[in-house]
Amino acid sequence: YGPAIDPATASADVDLAALRANVAVLAGHVGAAALMVVVKADAYGHGMLVCAREARAAGAGWLGVATPGEALALRTAGDTGLLMCWLYGPSEDLSPLVAADVDVSASSAEDVSRLAAAAAVAERPARVHLKVDTGLTRNGAPEAGWDELFAAVAEAVGAGALRLVGLWSHLAAADEPGHPSVAVQLAAFDRAYQQARLAGLEPELRHLANSAGAMVLPEARFDLVRVGIAAYGVEPAPGLAALAGVTLTPVMRLRAQLALVKRIPAGAGVSYGWTWTAPEDTVVGLVPLGYADGVPRHAGNVAEVTVRGRRAPVRGRICMDQLVVELGSGSRAEPGDEVTLFGAGPDVPTAADWAAVCGTIGYEVVTRIGARVPRRYL
Ligand code: PLP
Repeated sequence: YGPAIDPATASADVDLAALRANVAVLAGHVGAAALMVVVKADAYGHGMLVCAREARAAGAGWLGVATPGEALALRTAGDTGLLMCWLYGPSEDLSPLVAADVDVSASSAEDVSRLAAAAAVAERPARVHLKVDTGLTRNGAPEAGWDELFAAVAEAVGAGALRLVGLWSHLAAADEPGHPSVAVQLAAFDRAYQQARLAGLEPELRHLANSAGAMVLPEARFDLVRVGIAAYGVEPAPGLAALAGVTLTPVMRLRAQLALVKRIPAGAGVSYGWTWTAPEDTVVGLVPLGYADGVPRHAGNVAEVTVRGRRAPVRGRICMDQLVVELGSGSRAEPGDEVTLFGAGPDVPTAADWAAVCGTIGYEVVTRIGARVPRRYL
């Protein structure tokens, strides 16, 4: 039997020309800084291996992933370029990463000694990026631990176990222009750099910026920017692309064919719980995608789709595998008509539009599109 959902019935269409164009626009926008395209989480739902290949072709000198498994999947698929991985558990063996020439983040002296041990197994120095917490308060060494981290690294570099590639951190609110955290973090990042130098370290690269930072904070670009969401054509926050003066094109289009069209009378309750009741006779259509496919359940009664070039509101609750849209009493829509839930183009809602009405962010909308939904590469 074939895929769980037939690609003609519903799919997430991935516009690779748009991905390449976004990567090229962003590479041009950040000038001398190198560009890392972040392809973790299956390239934010777009398909990691295909997007990685396209991002490289469009000028991404670096790829970034969260987990060792993601990094090794890229290597197994034949990617040989600069690749960084930043999130691993306390019991994971890091030697396959070192052996595969994957750059690895270290946040503590403990991480450094694990990487030195991995280097001994792999019989080559580990390529390391030191993660300092400058204010996000997520991973990274806190300022009180920088001395200990830097001393451990200096020793491991001296012993030939480590190559210090990067000093890096991550911004908390680059997508909110004027947010006070940006200045706080820039100052802390500079202190970390000065302190590292006092410890005798000279990282080859410094990097701090995500998409929003790369787009609107030139002072945060340093040597390398790590761009995820913008490469997929989704603004980190509304208005940011205009502020940066860059044009991004949404890469993913979530679409389906109407599975059923039917006329319902005034007073008919629609979907579980009857949270919407038709005020007058109308025509509704059934879309064969639901929350099991990553359609946000919060989209019930608030999101819109496009059918035959016209907006159609989602009516009632999103079900596990299906949802209902109102086509209007005069609709001539038929089963098989193309429905765009979100995508690019005039009169088409974007993932950011869905996020806005569902109380979430565009990142979550695209990333959560489920494994059951076939990706079609255009
Ligand atoms: N850098 C790190 C450490 C990340 O975790 C992420 C993603 O969350 C990114 C960069 C890319 O962020 P964005 O998608 O906002 O560009």
